[in-house]
Amino acid sequence: FSGSERYLHRAHQVIPRGVNSSRRAVLRPTPLAFTGARGSRITDIDGNEYVDYVAGYGPMLLGHQPPEVVEAVRTQLAVGVLYGGQHEAEAELAERIVRMVPSAERVLLNVTGSEAVQAALRIARAATGRRKTVKFEGHYHGWIDPMTANGPGSPAGTGPAPRPVIAADHDVVGPEILVCPWNDPEALAGLLARHGADVAAVIMEPVAVNGGNLWADDGYLATARRLCERHGCLLVFDEVVTGFRLAPGGAQQRTGVTPDLTVLAKALGSGFPISAVAGRAEVMRVAEHTIGHAGTYNGNALSVVAANATLDVLEAGQDSLYPRLDRLTGQLADGIERLAARHGAPLQALRAGALVRLHWDAPTPLRTYADTLVGRTAPLRDFSEHMVRNGVHARETGLWYVSAAHTDDDVDRTLAAVDRALTAVSS
Ligand code: PMP
Repeated sequence: FSGSERYLHRAHQVIPRGVNSSRRAVLRPTPLAFTGARGSRITDIDGNEYVDYVAGYGPMLLGHQPPEVVEAVRTQLAVGVLYGGQHEAEAELAERIVRMVPSAERVLLNVTGSEAVQAALRIARAATGRRKTVKFEGHYHGWIDPMTANGPGSPAGTGPAPRPVIAADHDVVGPEILVCPWNDPEALAGLLARHGADVAAVIMEPVAVNGGNLWADDGYLATARRLCERHGCLLVFDEVVTGFRLAPGGAQQRTGVTPDLTVLAKALGSGFPISAVAGRAEVMRVAEHTIGHAGTYNGNALSVVAANATLDVLEAGQDSLYPRLDRLTGQLADGIERLAARHGAPLQALRAGALVRLHWDAPTPLRTYADTLVGRTAPLRDFSEHMVRNGVHARETGLWYVSAAHTDDDVDRTLAAVDRALTAVSS
């Protein structure tokens, strides 16, 4: 890893922390510097090749360099990168999203997931004339200030940003954001009974991926939907991770519960920066008159054609790609748990579509965000380091993204590496 270390030293001279964004999270044995990636594999500056489960933190649902996306971008590049006005591919993309995502009737584009969350909350405020937002413990909605509260990635020491404080009864003592425990219908009902008249949006990850891959309990999403209707609040699904990954229509297709607004990003662009807010026409109408929607790079042609090519592959793969992803992810998660049992390691692999979340020393079943935090401990970091040393690029948080480019051979190699890593950590 000497090349990666040399690179990091150089970067430290000019970049705080030596790397931009949370990519630094794969820390052990050292933050890796990469030179190339194709399919399910990624190569570092020292020439080590890894089976990649970081997948750019989610966007690479089709693997690295999917040929259809590369071709679309190359073609676009030949005619022009940015259009300062409209272009046909933009409406085509919105049409595809409307076709695929059950609750989508109108679509606005942004660049990052965080921005699209902000746009969704603005739309909700404008549509309801209310100010407050309800979010859930452990759910992550990007790094815009008000939404960083009480989730993974909450920045410490950033001064007086609007951070709520949770009181003992899980009610809020914050100005605008109310934090509610996940999978607790009574808590949500109580919160909305007290504050509902001021609440514009109830925002959630419909599967709490960042909170540890915690599925909603049976009936919970439907209850949330009903409560929102009763109190006149808009239900917002943050499907930045689950969108296109759990199914072509995301978690809302898998669960059958539809929100008023949906936030999409990551897999949408296969790594080209693009995000979207989609919603019911009646709600999205406010974006035509009441609020603005800006962003120099919104709808930029390179990202839009990358997204069109991506969604074409995903739509066509409804009956083949998704069952295959399910099968591979199942083999991976089951294989990890089988090996863990053989080694006597307290390791669980929770699945959500083409996602696996590893938990170490956590209760079974995991019910709450606090339970999942138990699993984000030193043994998982040690285990992840040994995975990297054995040719598997895996985040120390335990969140593994499976892609359509992964093969049976990749899963076999990965499980062999898991076996070696478990031997190493238990010795
Ligand atoms: N919502 C969820 C559920 C996410 O996981 C993320 C990013 N991990 C975001 C929003 C923010 O997206 P971005 O990093 O593109 O701003």
